[in-house]
Amino acid sequence: MLDEIDPLSLYRNRFHVPENTDNQEYIYLCGNSLGLQPKSVRSFIDEVLASWEKNAVEGHFSGSHPWFAYHEFLTEKLAQIVGALPIEVVAMNSLTINLHLMMVSFYRPTSNRYKILIEQQAFPSDQYAVKSQIKFHGLDPQNALVEAYPRENESILRTEDLLELIDRDGDEIALILLPGVQYYTGQAFDLAKITLAGHKKGCIVGFDLAHAAGNLLLELHDWNVDFAVWCSYKYLNAGPGAVAGCFVHERHSREHDLPRFAGWWGHNKNTRFKMPQQFSSMEGAEGWQVSNPPIFAMAPLLASLEIFSNAKMDVLRKKSTKLTGFLDYLLREQCDDQISIITPSRIEERGSQLSLTLRKQQNPGKYVQDKLTDAGIVCDWREPNVIRVSPVPLYNTFSEVFKFVNILHSIL
Ligand SMILES: *Cc1c(COP(=O)(O)O)cnc(C)c1O
Repeated sequence: MLDEIDPLSLYRNRFHVPENTDNQEYIYLCGNSLGLQPKSVRSFIDEVLASWEKNAVEGHFSGSHPWFAYHEFLTEKLAQIVGALPIEVVAMNSLTINLHLMMVSFYRPTSNRYKILIEQQAFPSDQYAVKSQIKFHGLDPQNALVEAYPRENESILRTEDLLELIDRDGDEIALILLPGVQYYTGQAFDLAKITLAGHKKGCIVGFDLAHAAGNLLLELHDWNVDFAVWCSYKYLNAGPGAVAGCFVHERHSREHDLPRFAGWWGHNKNTRFKMPQQFSSMEGAEGWQVSNPPIFAMAPLLASLEIFSNAKMDVLRKKSTKLTGFLDYLLREQCDDQISIITPSRIEERGSQLSLTLRKQQNPGKYVQDKLTDAGIVCDWREPNVIRVSPVPLYNTFSEVFKFVNILHSIL
């Protein structure tokens, strides 16, 4: 019944759902890791191939999506996804590269204020990036890194503890870098409160939205966030290694003197092809572009963003809270003695993902995960002992969630 009254039910058909050798569709609950392929992607890539074939170099300025401006076709829709003004976003590079480019401009340590606040359990790439930036400035991560971690025997970082930490150490913190949604626990952070607390202490506040973009309702502009980065292959369904996103708040859009690692695509587009010696950055997020973009990699993102723009983030989020709420309810109803959900139960504190751990140690989690795979369920396993399950509102159904819990119950 829930599937029948679902206003988004027709969207599933816009995606390729993988099947086994008997043409049975898998129950795909792994959109937090790699989103499914929109069927429209092929025609967007074909369009680029055709233009290259027919127009060659002229393709930069001809065809329905000239390559010179290709990234601009993405801007408006990308801005809607993260709650930004168009001037504040750009699709470019990949996530960790964008994180580095942002830190080059926004992590400017001084002798009094030189620390970076990050979670102890941050995604490894973020940890590596941050530590390497600290070393790049000739500092030592041993004392330039402030790590936030949950209380003993808890897996979720409490907002109040985080705010207290910012209040206590904020004077020495140059940059706060936290996730929108924690990749392991599924916890959604209170980005508005963290930004406010950080700014009160004079810190720059940036977010890694890898697991939040296309998942949560975001208001980066209104929350006054300094910068944010995200990838597009998770909830944004733009394919493996897809072109990532970057947000720079309008407040910084005309700070042309900010140090940055420049390249010709960040140069003012009106004079770019006059090839001047002197770099003059574009206003807004586009001023952080370095190279001319990989058009083939951008085409799937354009296809995907059209779907998001039609479906609308608030409608998606509404279904997502129901769908994940349904999953949560069934798990507690049927598997409570064997499974615990480490993801917060309040909907403001989570997106679509639930992270499950097994209560009984004698039943190794990987065994359960392997059995799920045998039963045609795609979800993922993260060491040391978490199964991540993420029903995605664009293409997952309430029936799939129901089947998943029944199968899990029988395996347990
Ligand atoms: C997925 C993810 C990444 C991946 O980084 P890439 O540069 O796209 O390889 C980085 N950080 C977080 C928090 C992630 O969830």
